[in-house]
Amino acid sequence: MIQNTLKRNLTKIIESIETERLKYSSHQIIKLIAVSKYVDINDIVNLYNIGQRAFGENKVQDLETKIISSNKLPLEWHFIGTLQENKINKLIELNPFMFQALDSIKLANALDSRLQKHNKKLSCLLEINTSLEDNKSGFKIEEALQAYEIIQKNNKNIILKGIMTIGPNTNNKKLIESSFKNAKDIFDKLQNNGAKILSCGMSNDYKIAIANGANMLRIGNSIFKI
Ligand SMILES: *Cc1c(COP(=O)(O)O)cnc(C)c1O
Repeated sequence: MIQNTLKRNLTKIIESIETERLKYSSHQIIKLIAVSKYVDINDIVNLYNIGQRAFGENKVQDLETKIISSNKLPLEWHFIGTLQENKINKLIELNPFMFQALDSIKLANALDSRLQKHNKKLSCLLEINTSLEDNKSGFKIEEALQAYEIIQKNNKNIILKGIMTIGPNTNNKKLIESSFKNAKDIFDKLQNNGAKILSCGMSNDYKIAIANGANMLRIGNSIFKI
């Protein structure tokens, strides 16, 4: 992509996020993760040169390729996709800044034991299925609080930082709103457990996410316009 186009897209989205942030609370701090799964390393480097440092990928293989080809640029990598158990070692080796989609106790146990073996820790978000769509991964709403506590207690090499959710795939604002309100409700209850991050909001629904307290956004399409 042309640098000017990237710059225009990024500026537009940052301005829009700022407008929505101020409507919610001028004290809110919001972090933007540029989801780079649609593009190759050239566009990532171009976006970095404009000022973006946090990037998200949803496949371990792509994360590896991009980390290797980013040639030691100080990018902050978020792994936002489903993690298969046979990819755990690879992910650990890649040292991402954060893994956002911890979606079962079984995965937490497997990840934790591998982390222990490598003597490493990994910051993670618990993924919650707040949209009640059957095909979505993540903990059920009613399981979330207990799961968070179990992982905190049993999986010492996993550092839970908060929660992540993916809004329902619909244009129905009410449904999206209700999904994000579910997430905010769980997030608020988890603040006693040290939860700091509420990651929700993508290109089509980030405004609704901000209005419901999201402090981390994962945006790809609006930046890279695929
Ligand atoms: C692709 C993806 C996004 C970004 O979605 P856009 O619609 O491109 O903004 C966010 N979160 C996850 C988990 C994704 O896989």
